[in-house]
Amino acid sequence: MSKHVEPRRRRVKVLATIGPASGTRERMLALIDAGADAFRVNMSHGTQAEHAARIRELRLAEADSGRSIAILADLQGPKLRVGRFADGGCLLEAGQDFQLDMDPTPGDARRVQLPHRELFEALAPGARLLVDDGRIVLRVRTVASRLLHCTVEVPGRISDMKGVNVPDVVVPLPALTAKDRSDLAFALDQGVDWIGLSFVQRPEDVAEARALIRGRAALMAKIEKPAALERLQEILESADAVMVARGDLGVELPPEQVPAAQKRIVAAAREAGRPVVVATQMLESMIEAPTPTRAEVSDVATAIYDGADAVMLSAESAVGRHPMAAVAMMDAIAREVESDPSYYSRVHFTELGNRVSTASAISLAAAQISRSIGAAAIVCVTIGGTTALRAARERAAVPILCLTPRPSTARRMALVWGVHAMGTRDVRDFEEMVAKSRRMALRSRLAKGGDALVLIAGVPFSTPGTTNVVHVVRLTGDELKGF
Ligand code: PGA
Ligand code: MN
Repeated sequence: MSKHVEPRRRRVKVLATIGPASGTRERMLALIDAGADAFRVNMSHGTQAEHAARIRELRLAEADSGRSIAILADLQGPKLRVGRFADGGCLLEAGQDFQLDMDPTPGDARRVQLPHRELFEALAPGARLLVDDGRIVLRVRTVASRLLHCTVEVPGRISDMKGVNVPDVVVPLPALTAKDRSDLAFALDQGVDWIGLSFVQRPEDVAEARALIRGRAALMAKIEKPAALERLQEILESADAVMVARGDLGVELPPEQVPAAQKRIVAAAREAGRPVVVATQMLESMIEAPTPTRAEVSDVATAIYDGADAVMLSAESAVGRHPMAAVAMMDAIAREVESDPSYYSRVHFTELGNRVSTASAISLAAAQISRSIGAAAIVCVTIGGTTALRAARERAAVPILCLTPRPSTARRMALVWGVHAMGTRDVRDFEEMVAKSRRMALRSRLAKGGDALVLIAGVPFSTPGTTNVVHVVRLTGDELKGF
């Protein structure tokens, strides 16, 4: 990280999914230059060998860029699918009977395999099965052992291996399939920074994954099931971050309920001090078109006004025709929204509640002081990133400069609102921290001679997780002399 790069001129971060349209070092560097702060590797598609090659290219692009870039390995999770059909598929008509069973014989217009034993126990009469992103709706009439008699409620063509969502029940499935376990081991081996956990239903799912990850990466719980919404608070406590995964959430919930769910998840995550990503179909039309629809621009803006930490691109950057333009568009929307005079009052519309801890009080004080004295930045020296997360939670109106000796911390921070992370050597004492903060603030160009900085830290440095000092300094501009 020796190269000095300009901090982004925005607070919200851009997370871009990589795929065939963006998998080379040159393209990823172009995406970083256009504004991508973090990349998602979607384990639902492609082989581990393909992902390994892309991750290698990405780390090269990261080095070229001089920025700390986060990689999110997104596990497929227990995605349910029907089996295969004799003719590849068939047409289901409204009102007809259709049967799901455990028989691997190719299906027809009367029946097909549903190779998930757990479902036969979990589904009761009246429950719905949403096939192919909800295009087809089946309602369970009767349940026998390993046999579901359904009525076709919404007709359509069903075909091989189509996905199935069951929003009405908590499915007794493990949080991680055999494939997920293998992908998780692979991703940790590759040194990714974040693990995305799909189809989380309960806090225990998060705990199970956390036990396997053992601190080697941070954990992002994807909220895409109504069951997860019901236990959102507990999931927020056990995860490091959450994603508003609107794709599957909008299948499992009526789509008109997704906006309120998004606002609720973002507010709850901010209250809990957990980063939150808003995802899916944000600039969907840019998969084909060079410019987005007005409604898409408005959707991205809404997520930013809500105070999300990051906005995500899926197919737009993974397989679309205009990955660079899509990233540049998000960057442009973010800069425009954040320069709207009403931006901060809208972001602070989400009120953060009880501040019981010293650490939260210090972080709030730092945000208030920085505004009162017109400071150029809040600076924190942190090992694991907790202090930077606390400062970000307050959505202060000045950039947060995070200085850390750990490259993994700097990379994780690439998904966090307002944080510009830089690697430094370890600091031993308070004086050294102050001197280093002064120099790095100048070097980052977040501040210049005459500017004030608000420093927050946990002292002694050997005890992670404490934030107990707020300290104000004014730069002379001579701090870099002799360095
Ligand atoms: P996916 O997750 O793209 O992995 O399905 C996001 C979503 O469901 O919105
Ligand atoms: Mn999903």
